[in-house]
Amino acid sequence: METRTAVRRGGKGLRGFEAAPRAECVAVGSELLAEKTETNSRFLTEELGRLGFDLRLKTVVGDRENDIEEVLSQALHRSDVIILTGGLGPAEDDLTKKVLARVLKRRLVFQEAMRERFQEASIAQPRLKWSERQALIPTGASVLPNPLGTVAGLLLEEGGRIVIALPGTPAEVEAVFADSVRPRLEERFPRRKGAYARILRTTGLSETEVAGRIRDLRVAPGRVSIQFASGPRGVDLRLAAGGEERGALQALDAAEATLRDRLDHFLYGEGQQELEEIAGLILAQRRLTLAVAESCTGGLLAQRITSVPGSSRYFDRGVVCYSNASKTALLDLSLRLLELHGSVSREVAGAMAEGVRFISGTTLGLGVTGIAGPSGATLTKPVGLVYGAVAGLGETRVEEWRLEGDRRAIREQAAQRSLDLLRRMLMT
Ligand code: ATP
Repeated sequence: METRTAVRRGGKGLRGFEAAPRAECVAVGSELLAEKTETNSRFLTEELGRLGFDLRLKTVVGDRENDIEEVLSQALHRSDVIILTGGLGPAEDDLTKKVLARVLKRRLVFQEAMRERFQEASIAQPRLKWSERQALIPTGASVLPNPLGTVAGLLLEEGGRIVIALPGTPAEVEAVFADSVRPRLEERFPRRKGAYARILRTTGLSETEVAGRIRDLRVAPGRVSIQFASGPRGVDLRLAAGGEERGALQALDAAEATLRDRLDHFLYGEGQQELEEIAGLILAQRRLTLAVAESCTGGLLAQRITSVPGSSRYFDRGVVCYSNASKTALLDLSLRLLELHGSVSREVAGAMAEGVRFISGTTLGLGVTGIAGPSGATLTKPVGLVYGAVAGLGETRVEEWRLEGDRRAIREQAAQRSLDLLRRMLMT
């Protein structure tokens, strides 16, 4: 069976925490087992955590009826809330609805209200005519409107458990969740008194390294449980405490203070904060300006920096200079420097940061160069070797990183480390 299942590791916790309602996510779509990165469960993890759920499993399952049926049947035995995403539309391989009806023993019936909606859509866009099939709804299901698309979500109750099916497109998942799912779950599972949680974000350490730094905290029985979630951008720690409010919050504060001490500068933010937001805030507050010169990240840095609303206040430009010729032409780097040290070197990263700062007239310049692989390695320079540099504020700081993973993971980590270098430089 083509399923990949990740069981989230739980820390030692209080009784109150362990009694939290159990939730699990199922991502449906064969593309998610192959070329496409599964992202919906990350959003759902955050949201469910905030609502006080204990997220037990995330499963990715391909577009095969039997496999989806098996995953759903098992989920119904162990979780209070099951959220499926994807496979809900009218395409031939969109099987979620069919399987839901079969497993929950419901008939698929035509919903008149929805038929009208799709007929309207069909008149405006004749190609959508076949999407009338979306008006087929399992009996007893509530329809969760989709403000961004035609594929509505569904909510079904079965033996005290709730099964929710959402469309696959990440923006639609977020919209339907915010409009319809969150209020329903809040109403149905009122936040238990005493379930308090917060998320701390780290970058630059592996999960093993984070665990090593806080090993004693995870083993010692205490009020606060700690769970890990790792991704290419770093390791997030979810702290949870139970009991009455004051005691739980005090326990969380104490645990957070210890973690901040142990994790030092590797801990960069809380909740859903991203490095580009944190660095952006400091740049704006200090009225500093920034330009970036990117080689191996190919524009990722500029993309992340400009994704922050208001970044025009401090961001001037991003230059993607992949070839040596472009580095000399656009950043005024000397060909001799490139030949002497190679384009992936401490010296070139520093010169890129200084060069882009100079040509842009900004207070800060950021440069990054590295080998994302799979080819390009030499005896002395392996795949994953990346140099990042920040120039300005009276110094040029260069760091060397040895990153692991495939090309995509290395590029993502290179962008993350570069933004973190910028953040740390801004904080000193
Ligand atoms: P809709 O098309 O309205 O989103 P749907 O249920 O038919 O509804 P799918 O066809 O399964 O959705 O997926 C729509 C798009 O969202 C596809 O591009 C798919 O790859 C992507 N997608 C689906 N599930 C996920 C996921 N868990 N993470 C990231 N992308 C996803």
